[in-house]
Amino acid sequence: MEVYKTKKDHLHIVTFPVGDFASNCTVIYSDATKNALVIDPGFTIAPVNQLIQKNKLKVTHILHTHGHFDHITSSSELREMTKAPIYLHPGDEHFFKDLIHQASLFGYSLKINLSPIDHFLSDNQIIEFDQGTLSLKVIHTPGHSQGGCCFFTDNFGYPMLIAGDTLFKQSVGRTDLPGGDFDQIVSSIKNKLFIYPDATVVITGHGPVTNIGDEKKYNPYLT
Ligand SMILES: [Zn+2]
Repeated sequence: MEVYKTKKDHLHIVTFPVGDFASNCTVIYSDATKNALVIDPGFTIAPVNQLIQKNKLKVTHILHTHGHFDHITSSSELREMTKAPIYLHPGDEHFFKDLIHQASLFGYSLKINLSPIDHFLSDNQIIEFDQGTLSLKVIHTPGHSQGGCCFFTDNFGYPMLIAGDTLFKQSVGRTDLPGGDFDQIVSSIKNKLFIYPDATVVITGHGPVTNIGDEKKYNPYLT
């Protein structure tokens, strides 16, 4: 069951929940070239793999909004399978490297060959996908974790943010985990996300999509 799905010309975007924590994975792909970009593959590889096989996609990028285990556990396996490089902000490198310990704190014992991180994300960086069919702007939004990032694009004909666990519908990411800071997440959202138009669709890290206008009006943490 998709959380979000739309297309423009050959460009598709689909978001669906993965694993016990229902962490949203987003796949952007072209049905012309079959190139695909995956954001937060999630805890298990099966859902994203199913989409890849069904549409015969070639994954060229594996991006992460942050390094929490429910968003990154299947990333190493996906990289192994597709040879696509992994992108993460350096502020969350320790989470990626410490995946097995992270997961153990939540009761999971993982057996995983950890991939290296191929590229570090930085604030305002532009990620070009599919020979420029789509560009994603990286917005560093620390607060849920120190390496948290959102991705902005207007290539679907309207503004869109993939926000990870920074902003949820009428909520914000938890800040009680290591590297969390409530004042910082509020400031990241107000100063770096609320500058986008009210109509900006926000694909969140868990649960339904929302938009910037509604969050300015109704989010109890931000009004
Ligand atoms: Zn998280």
